[in-house]
Amino acid sequence: MRKVDTIVIHCSAGSQKATAADIVNYHLKNLKWQRPGYHYIIEPDGNIVNTWPVERISNGVKGHNEHIINVCYIGGIDAKGKAVDNRTASQKAAIIAVIRELRSRFGSLKVVGHRDFSPDVNRNGIVDPWERIKECPCFDAIPEYNKI
Ligand SMILES: [Zn+2]
Repeated sequence: MRKVDTIVIHCSAGSQKATAADIVNYHLKNLKWQRPGYHYIIEPDGNIVNTWPVERISNGVKGHNEHIINVCYIGGIDAKGKAVDNRTASQKAAIIAVIRELRSRFGSLKVVGHRDFSPDVNRNGIVDPWERIKECPCFDAIPEYNKI
Protein backbone atom coordinates (compact mmCIF):
# COMPACT_ATOMS: atom_id res chain seq x y z
CA MET A 1 0.00 0.00 0.00
CA ARG A 2 1.18 3.52 -0.78
CA LYS A 3 1.38 6.03 2.08
CA VAL A 4 -1.92 7.91 2.40
CA ASP A 5 -2.75 10.64 4.90
CA THR A 6 -5.82 12.44 3.52
CA ILE A 7 -9.27 11.76 2.11
CA VAL A 8 -10.36 14.42 -0.36
CA ILE A 9 -14.09 14.94 -0.94
CA HIS A 10 -15.27 16.03 -4.37
CA CYS A 11 -18.56 16.64 -6.16
CA SER A 12 -19.06 15.55 -9.76
CA ALA A 13 -20.29 19.06 -10.67
CA GLY A 14 -22.82 17.44 -12.98
CA SER A 15 -26.27 15.94 -13.20
CA GLN A 16 -27.53 13.75 -10.38
CA LYS A 17 -28.84 11.42 -13.06
CA ALA A 18 -25.27 10.39 -13.92
CA THR A 19 -23.95 7.08 -12.61
CA ALA A 20 -20.50 6.24 -11.28
CA ALA A 21 -19.81 4.37 -14.52
CA ASP A 22 -20.66 7.50 -16.57
CA ILE A 23 -18.07 9.50 -14.64
CA VAL A 24 -15.33 6.87 -14.95
CA ASN A 25 -16.06 6.56 -18.68
CA TYR A 26 -15.85 10.31 -19.06
CA HIS A 27 -12.42 10.42 -17.41
CA LEU A 28 -10.95 7.42 -19.23
CA LYS A 29 -12.61 7.64 -22.64
CA ASN A 30 -13.51 11.30 -23.20
CA LEU A 31 -10.63 12.94 -21.34
CA LYS A 32 -8.29 9.98 -22.07
CA TRP A 33 -6.87 10.02 -18.54
CA GLN A 34 -4.69 7.04 -17.56
CA ARG A 35 -6.67 6.67 -14.33
CA PRO A 36 -10.03 7.93 -13.13
CA GLY A 37 -10.43 10.95 -10.88
CA TYR A 38 -11.84 9.13 -7.86
CA HIS A 39 -11.46 5.94 -5.87
CA TYR A 40 -15.06 6.01 -4.68
CA ILE A 41 -18.15 7.56 -6.21
CA ILE A 42 -21.33 7.94 -4.16
CA GLU A 43 -24.50 7.81 -6.24
CA PRO A 44 -27.60 9.81 -5.23
CA ASP A 45 -29.30 6.74 -3.73
CA GLY A 46 -26.29 6.22 -1.45
CA ASN A 47 -24.77 3.42 -3.50
CA ILE A 48 -20.99 3.39 -2.91
CA VAL A 49 -19.02 2.40 -6.01
CA ASN A 50 -15.32 1.56 -5.62
CA THR A 51 -14.12 2.82 -9.01
CA TRP A 52 -10.35 2.40 -8.55
CA PRO A 53 -8.16 0.41 -6.14
CA VAL A 54 -7.08 2.62 -3.22
CA GLU A 55 -3.61 1.09 -3.55
CA ARG A 56 -3.28 2.95 -6.84
CA ILE A 57 -3.07 6.70 -7.42
CA SER A 58 -6.15 8.39 -8.88
CA ASN A 59 -6.46 11.76 -10.57
CA GLY A 60 -8.43 14.01 -8.21
CA VAL A 61 -6.13 16.88 -7.17
CA LYS A 62 -3.21 17.82 -9.41
CA GLY A 63 0.09 17.65 -7.54
CA HIS A 64 -1.34 15.87 -4.47
CA ASN A 65 -2.60 12.50 -5.71
CA GLU A 66 0.24 10.35 -4.38
CA HIS A 67 -0.90 10.56 -0.76
CA ILE A 68 -4.67 11.04 -1.03
CA ILE A 69 -7.81 8.98 -1.51
CA ASN A 70 -10.39 10.73 -3.71
CA VAL A 71 -14.10 10.34 -2.88
CA CYS A 72 -16.79 11.99 -5.03
CA TYR A 73 -20.53 12.39 -4.58
CA ILE A 74 -22.66 12.81 -7.69
CA GLY A 75 -24.12 16.31 -7.69
CA GLY A 76 -22.86 19.70 -6.57
CA ILE A 77 -24.58 22.01 -9.05
CA ASP A 78 -28.15 23.21 -9.52
CA ALA A 79 -30.13 23.24 -12.79
CA LYS A 80 -28.34 26.45 -13.85
CA GLY A 81 -24.89 25.04 -13.14
CA LYS A 82 -24.40 27.04 -9.95
CA ALA A 83 -22.55 25.42 -7.04
CA VAL A 84 -24.94 23.93 -4.49
CA ASP A 85 -24.72 21.37 -1.72
CA ASN A 86 -27.39 18.96 -2.94
CA ARG A 87 -26.11 15.80 -1.26
CA THR A 88 -29.01 13.50 -0.52
CA ALA A 89 -29.45 12.12 2.99
CA SER A 90 -28.31 8.73 1.62
CA GLN A 91 -25.17 10.28 0.15
CA LYS A 92 -24.34 12.03 3.43
CA ALA A 93 -24.61 8.71 5.28
CA ALA A 94 -22.59 6.90 2.60
CA ILE A 95 -19.75 9.45 2.68
CA ILE A 96 -19.47 8.96 6.45
CA ALA A 97 -19.46 5.18 5.97
CA VAL A 98 -16.60 5.43 3.46
CA ILE A 99 -14.59 7.71 5.76
CA ARG A 100 -15.05 5.32 8.69
CA GLU A 101 -14.07 2.32 6.57
CA LEU A 102 -10.95 4.02 5.22
CA ARG A 103 -9.89 5.21 8.67
CA SER A 104 -10.31 1.70 10.03
CA ARG A 105 -7.98 0.44 7.30
CA PHE A 106 -5.41 3.22 7.08
CA GLY A 107 -5.50 5.07 10.42
CA SER A 108 -6.45 8.63 11.28
CA LEU A 109 -6.78 10.15 7.82
CA LYS A 110 -7.54 13.86 7.54
CA VAL A 111 -10.65 14.76 5.55
CA VAL A 112 -10.68 17.88 3.38
CA GLY A 113 -12.60 19.20 0.38
CA HIS A 114 -11.02 19.71 -3.01
CA ARG A 115 -11.36 23.46 -2.62
CA ASP A 116 -9.21 23.36 0.52
CA PHE A 117 -6.19 22.88 -1.77
CA SER A 118 -6.65 26.45 -3.01
CA PRO A 119 -3.72 28.74 -2.13
CA ASP A 120 -3.93 30.47 1.24
CA VAL A 121 -3.24 33.84 -0.38
CA ASN A 122 -3.22 35.94 2.80
CA ARG A 123 -1.51 33.16 4.82
CA ASN A 124 -3.98 33.24 7.69
CA GLY A 125 -3.95 29.45 7.93
CA ILE A 126 -7.32 28.81 6.29
CA VAL A 127 -8.62 28.94 2.74
CA ASP A 128 -11.16 31.75 2.89
CA PRO A 129 -14.12 31.69 0.46
CA TRP A 130 -12.57 34.40 -1.76
CA GLU A 131 -9.37 32.34 -2.08
CA ARG A 132 -11.08 29.24 -3.50
CA ILE A 133 -10.02 28.37 -7.04
CA LYS A 134 -13.13 26.18 -7.31
CA GLU A 135 -16.16 25.37 -5.16
CA CYS A 136 -15.83 21.56 -5.21
CA PRO A 137 -17.26 19.85 -3.15
CA CYS A 138 -19.69 22.77 -2.50
CA PHE A 139 -19.72 22.43 1.28
CA ASP A 140 -17.24 22.77 4.10
CA ALA A 141 -15.78 19.27 4.50
CA ILE A 142 -13.20 20.00 7.22
CA PRO A 143 -15.54 20.89 10.12
CA GLU A 144 -18.15 18.36 9.00
CA TYR A 145 -15.91 15.31 8.86
CA ASN A 146 -12.99 15.87 11.17
CA LYS A 147 -15.15 15.39 14.23
CA ILE A 148 -16.61 12.05 13.23
ZN1 LIG B 1 -13.00 18.14 -7.06
